Amino acid sequence: MKIILMGGPGAGKGTQAGPLVERFGIPHISTGDMFRAAIKNGTEQGLKAKSFMDAGGLVPDEVTIGVVAERLAQPDCVKGFLLDGFPRTLAQGTALAEILDRLGMKLDGVINIEVAEDVLIPRLTGRRVCRQCGASYHMVFNKPEKEGVCGQCAGELYQRSDDNVETAKNRLLTYNNQTQPLIDFYQKQGLLITVNGGQAIEQVFTDILKALG
Ligand code: ADP
Ligand code: ADP
Ligand code: ZN
Repeated sequence: MKIILMGGPGAGKGTQAGPLVERFGIPHISTGDMFRAAIKNGTEQGLKAKSFMDAGGLVPDEVTIGVVAERLAQPDCVKGFLLDGFPRTLAQGTALAEILDRLGMKLDGVINIEVAEDVLIPRLTGRRVCRQCGASYHMVFNKPEKEGVCGQCAGELYQRSDDNVETAKNRLLTYNNQTQPLIDFYQKQGLLITVNGGQAIEQVFTDILKALG
């Protein structure tokens, strides 16, 4: 199973990615998670990414594409993968097609989690993330059983520094300007599967599984 999860910031990509990779036994490749890990580890790549992430813009294509190309060439991706948050620009989409060609791989589908814009900002500002396993929670819509503690691994929950109103608004603009054109790109290739991300988390998951067949 080789799939891409698309959707605006806060659409529910990370939330759906967890159970999906578990179901299919494939690696979860999140460029956002990879950049946050690089920042935490103080690598050069992390230094390059940080200012763009803080501003709600995109990390430059050449950096991002390099990171993904390297990851997809790892042996665990042979059986499949789930890309979460990549590609985010047309240039990344084109580069991905070339990378997969070179590796002799073909995409099975691109899942677009569609959510009304006015729902996204409150989802982002109320989000809490596990420091240990990356699981996403929400202060109102998806509370952890025990406040501040991850229900899956007992890790500590924190608020991402870019999940403030100001940066969230910029990320939405970035999505509309730079990522939205990819929807058309994949629609034309007959790969796009759109699901209604405004429903309950479990229902969105059921719809994705149904669409994947
Ligand atoms: P993304 O990875 O697309 O940015 P997340 O999966 O982290 O989005 O979800 C953003 C926030 O919205 C999180 O706080 C998450 O708990 C919450 N959330 C995700 N899916 C839903 C849903 N279907 N209904 C309500 N809240 C949701
Ligand atoms: P969200 O869950 O809100 O969709 P992510 O965790 O996927 O956010 O990404 C966080 C930030 O990391 C983005 O706002 C962007 O700055 C950077 N980023 C992640 N993926 C990419 C990408 N494919 N291209 C460029 N920048 C990216
Ligand atoms: Zn956890």
